[in-house]
Amino acid sequence: MNLLLLEQDDLLPDGYDSHIESHQAKITDTRRLKHIHQTLNLTVGDSIKVGVRDGLKGTAQVAEITPESVSFSHLVLDTPPPAKIPLTLVLALPRPLVLRRLIMDAVTMGVERLVLLNSRCVEKSYWQSQVFDELQQIVVLGLEQAGDTVAPLIELRPRFRPFVEDELPALVQGKTAIVAHPYATAVAPIGLTTPCVLVVGAEGGFIPFEIDLLEKSGCMPVSLGQRILRTETAVPLLIGRLMG
Ligand code: SAM
Repeated sequence: MNLLLLEQDDLLPDGYDSHIESHQAKITDTRRLKHIHQTLNLTVGDSIKVGVRDGLKGTAQVAEITPESVSFSHLVLDTPPPAKIPLTLVLALPRPLVLRRLIMDAVTMGVERLVLLNSRCVEKSYWQSQVFDELQQIVVLGLEQAGDTVAPLIELRPRFRPFVEDELPALVQGKTAIVAHPYATAVAPIGLTTPCVLVVGAEGGFIPFEIDLLEKSGCMPVSLGQRILRTETAVPLLIGRLMG
């Protein structure tokens, strides 16, 4: 946790304003308490980096610590969260363990919009995964890791064809749109100066029909070379390459 993300409910009634140093907050949930007690080992008077959901970042001072709660005073919120990268990641739904890590990494890297998409090789049971119940928690972990306060837009598209045929053409307008595919002849671009839509397959990749349809909807198939990478390796590599 590189930043304690405060929800509106954590702020004490007088709320907060940037540059005002007298405001207070209190947290009572087990996860954040455990982190403060056991990992950060904070005591009264210590300062901690905080951010308010969808708002500014800054610092707060620990005012009181009990096993059930930690109170903060002197909230100074004066720094905007880091800018998002202008990238929409369209990800064929991987298995739950990988999905959990990829969502967190996408949030941490500052992806603006994440679309989780079905494809032929996606196991139907993945759409029933418990990860979807934990989505908000996973996003918070990613924001806390990055020192961000603003969650990306996350959308579920459990039907491949309606998304690719009806939504994707509008989504790619004015952007560089690519589908990462190990068998493509074009090489993945480096250092884009335009916003980007990046489509990445899951463990089974995309079938030729899906690659054709994605191409017809405006996404150019590109490769990172002959080595077939795991999705969780391909995603950060592609983002670093495109946005670098
Ligand atoms: N068996 C799948 C196949 O043959 O397409 C492998 C899929 S790979 C584990 C998962 C996804 O990561 C791919 O669908 C692709 O989007 C991306 N990927 C992995 N290696 C890649 C490479 N060398 N070039 C481009 N994309 C790659």
